Amino acid sequence: MVEQLQKQGISDDNVLKAMGEVKRHWFLDSALDALAYEDRALKIGAEQTISRPSTVAMQSQLLQVQSGMKVLEIGTGSGYQAAVLCKMGAKVFSIERQKSLFDHTKPLLAELGYRVRCFLGDGYQGLTEADYGPYDRIIVTCGAPGIPDGLMAQLKVGGIMVIPVGGEDTQEMLRITKTGENERKEETFGDYSFVPMLGGRQMR
Ligand code: SAH
Repeated sequence: MVEQLQKQGISDDNVLKAMGEVKRHWFLDSALDALAYEDRALKIGAEQTISRPSTVAMQSQLLQVQSGMKVLEIGTGSGYQAAVLCKMGAKVFSIERQKSLFDHTKPLLAELGYRVRCFLGDGYQGLTEADYGPYDRIIVTCGAPGIPDGLMAQLKVGGIMVIPVGGEDTQEMLRITKTGENERKEETFGDYSFVPMLGGRQMR
């Protein structure tokens, strides 16, 4: 899988190393073992999917994580992306809105030895139930209808947010650098297809 990722243009050694070490099949139903290392999204229950390895690698690389950084993830899902970030040395805080996934993934991450702080709730406006912010990095792993103000507010000045923004079917991957309290730089990195950020849509 790591060789494939390199061929697909992933060059960040920390990302490649972490993805070589964190086994994707740990985060999937054993019935999917044979497919775990193929570059495809797979079902994880509650009508959600684990992202393709190439998408996890791309988002992780765009995030430019350094050891010790505080990273907020929206959409814990299977826990795989959170574990990869943890392996890269980040202090990970992750929010999931589906109770069944939260109840499954929180103990799984602990059992596997990944110290991810998991929260159940709507992450559209960030982590509101506990005050661990501001964050060095924010990663959104579901398709957002726009850039939520609450997430921008919880990002440090100089911090980076990687977020797929668009409609239900396709979203454009954005990397936003918060260059000042009310200023930001936006870069785009192509089209992706994430499950929608549900709470956010309903709230708007
Ligand atoms: N990072 C996950 C990807 C899971 S898919 C992984 O590695 O497996 C995206 C997840 O985002 C789903 O589990 C979905 O339930 C969750 N989600 C959708 N809208 C959300 C919201 N508003 N707040 C928090 N999580 C949300």
